[in-house]
Amino acid sequence: MPPATPPKDRLRLALQKSGRLSADSLDLLARCGIKVKTPKEKLLLHAENFPIDLLFVRDDDIPQLVMDGVCDLGIVGTNVLEETALERHTNGAGAGYELQRTLDFGGCRLAIALPEERAYATPADLAGVRIATSYPQLTKRYLAAQGVAAEVVVLTGSVEIAPRLGLAEAICDLVATGSTLEANQLRAVETIFKSTAVLIRGARELDAVKAHALELLLRRIDGVQMAAEAKYIMLHAPKSALPQIKQLLPGAENPTILPLAGDDTKVALHAVCQEAVFWETMESLKRVGASSILVLPIEKMML
Ligand code: ATP
Ligand code: ZN
Repeated sequence: MPPATPPKDRLRLALQKSGRLSADSLDLLARCGIKVKTPKEKLLLHAENFPIDLLFVRDDDIPQLVMDGVCDLGIVGTNVLEETALERHTNGAGAGYELQRTLDFGGCRLAIALPEERAYATPADLAGVRIATSYPQLTKRYLAAQGVAAEVVVLTGSVEIAPRLGLAEAICDLVATGSTLEANQLRAVETIFKSTAVLIRGARELDAVKAHALELLLRRIDGVQMAAEAKYIMLHAPKSALPQIKQLLPGAENPTILPLAGDDTKVALHAVCQEAVFWETMESLKRVGASSILVLPIEKMML
């Protein structure tokens, strides 16, 4: 096991060892330029070119590791984070953490689902129902907010089979596409929590070296996330159409205008668009006179 507190000069980040968040978490670090060798063979990996160590664990342990100061940072779903925070509040344990960034992966929702044939109109229909879930805290909080008295049965895995086994009449579980529910003849009736992956840090103050490294890391994450949507657009345009063209470019500031050799009625325009560029936008640009339109992905960005 690694020491109970991280070193003074290297950040320690907890990541899911294997599961739905693992690949995206590692990919984010890779896009931030952080190099690790043969990931996941060891519990703790040292990045080669950045003062950060990665600890690979079950996702359920990540909030605790950060809240207890064993790790400085963690990447985890808000479903697990909020469930742990509520549980620690209930037990009187501290649940201090700071949200650093909301990440653009791990999206899913926690939903109450019933057997397809069971009638449902409002949350009041859940009164007296046994609901199986791995998220008792979030489920109870929802029921309390709705003023519904239902029983919560805690199961750690395969929650979707609980109704067939007669363990419960309803479930509260994570849903992304709904295909697992469908396969078990269940249908989602209420979304009680929307989840996404986040980067969190503990509430403790960091040593100066680590604080600086965290600042760098956050800046790189922002650069990666901004670049994910952003596009670089290049086109040729009649000078007279420039005002209309500028209006059509989504989220672009101050485009670069360059002369075109051999044609002084036209210019080349280059711009960074902060939002997605759709076919419809390109068609509108063409209609007002633009030609040779190129839309290029942007890998990194620093403003
Ligand atoms: P572990 O072994 O780490 O405990 P697990 O089986 O609990 O893994 P996964 O199924 O890998 O966890 O899900 C990890 C997290 O991924 C979830 O807690 C949630 O935040 C997120 N997630 C994203 N999409 C989905 C989905 N379709 N179903 C379940 N979780 C999802
Ligand atoms: Zn888990």
